[in-house]
Amino acid sequence: MENEIKQEMDKVEIPENNEVSVPVETAEPNADKNAPAPKLNIDKFSPRQLMELDACTRCGECSNWCPAYDEDDREPLNPRGRASLFKEIITRQYGLFSADSILGKLSGKKTVTNAEMEAFAKDLYACSTCMQCHFVCPVAIDTVELWERIRETIVDSGHGPLENQKALVKNTKNYDNPWAQPRSSRGRWAKMAKKKKRIKDVPKDISKMSSEVLYYVGCTASYDNNVEEVAINTTNIFEHAGLDFGILGNKEKCCGSVLLRMGDKKSFIRISSENIEQFNGLGIKTLVTSCAGCLKTIKEDYKRVGKLDFEVKHTLEFIVDLIKSGKLELKKPVNLKITYHDPCHLGRHAGIFDAPRDLISLIPGLEFVEMERNRENSRCCGAGGGLKSGFPDMQNSISQKRIEDALATGASELVSACPFCYQGLQVGIQAKNAPIKMRDITELVCMALGDDNEENNPEEETDLDVE
Ligand code: SF4
Ligand code: SF4
Repeated sequence: MENEIKQEMDKVEIPENNEVSVPVETAEPNADKNAPAPKLNIDKFSPRQLMELDACTRCGECSNWCPAYDEDDREPLNPRGRASLFKEIITRQYGLFSADSILGKLSGKKTVTNAEMEAFAKDLYACSTCMQCHFVCPVAIDTVELWERIRETIVDSGHGPLENQKALVKNTKNYDNPWAQPRSSRGRWAKMAKKKKRIKDVPKDISKMSSEVLYYVGCTASYDNNVEEVAINTTNIFEHAGLDFGILGNKEKCCGSVLLRMGDKKSFIRISSENIEQFNGLGIKTLVTSCAGCLKTIKEDYKRVGKLDFEVKHTLEFIVDLIKSGKLELKKPVNLKITYHDPCHLGRHAGIFDAPRDLISLIPGLEFVEMERNRENSRCCGAGGGLKSGFPDMQNSISQKRIEDALATGASELVSACPFCYQGLQVGIQAKNAPIKMRDITELVCMALGDDNEENNPEEETDLDVE
């Protein structure tokens, strides 16, 4: 495996100034829709994955749970249908009975055309990679690994990602963030928060002053004004605990999750290798992140690229540790009725279900009600896997269904632990004009510390030149 990764890395060209786009090594899609599509590279699949295509019993249990199929009930969107369609494509492209073999011709096999591949790709990307299908599959097919591998071959064939998802990939390669924001303003949130007196100090630059704990902020909390609360709250919590920690500021880069989920593996290997080298070079013991996507990517996916010399924790796990070790005390009652949404990449993907509930139980005054679908069966918000960019209407509808789940509990606040879910669930709240407030879990912790940012009444936003 390591050899395979090294061979792939050797092929990747890294521009010296890191400013220009690294071209994805793809075949140009043939303009002729009826022409034969390029053969998909089945070498990318492990023997186990190829066997999994045969292992599907077509029981249809996944169809009862898939949020995308729930919105568009065509068979290719169904996990079962996707696996079966992919198997059909590779059978027509390879083997004794392939369309261009004598036996294939005799048995009437048809060549896979560009038009067919395009249609397959479109449905393949209508998936939030939520992993629900894996959890309900009686033969435990590792579905998301399979979908991501298929996306990789589709990118190589020139049919993916979809037009409106390409910007995410291009931006991440050009700017080290999916939002096309300049690298030089990645740390701006901290300087602005300091100017507005919402944090005491800008966290120290860990690349200049060492520390055992790196707070990896992530792209969404760094750049999105609506989500910067997450970074501000986390900073305040760590300061309150007297924690020695640092951030990378403008030197931080995207974790590369977007690239991996979209199937651009080569670019993912490039950015993750750069990050691993940077993180290991800091001499940290722990990397803490508030984003479920970053956590899953750094903790689980980086392992296949290189060795990490530190542990990776989600902020909420780290906060539970701080409370249990007596460094943080939550005293002020927070008299709210809340429900909790498990982010797919924190729960199903990384197995973190207990820590958020432990943290909620440690916040005095909270009334906590579970949604009917929780933990392994939590309904996805639809924001992940490129679904929100590729299919915004579908995401909106999926998000509204999750908001209905939350409203059914009678809670006044919907709490989660991921900036991406925060954005994704807000879509549903706004569409329904729902009487429920979205909160990141760090907000509740700050309230229990007496640091609630709402109560701090921040100054008006001003156009401060902080760079
Ligand atoms: S990962 Fe989620 S959205 Fe994708 S096919 Fe499975 S259940 Fe459907
Ligand atoms: S639940 Fe598993 S075995 Fe059943 S149809 Fe879906 S992928 Fe196939």
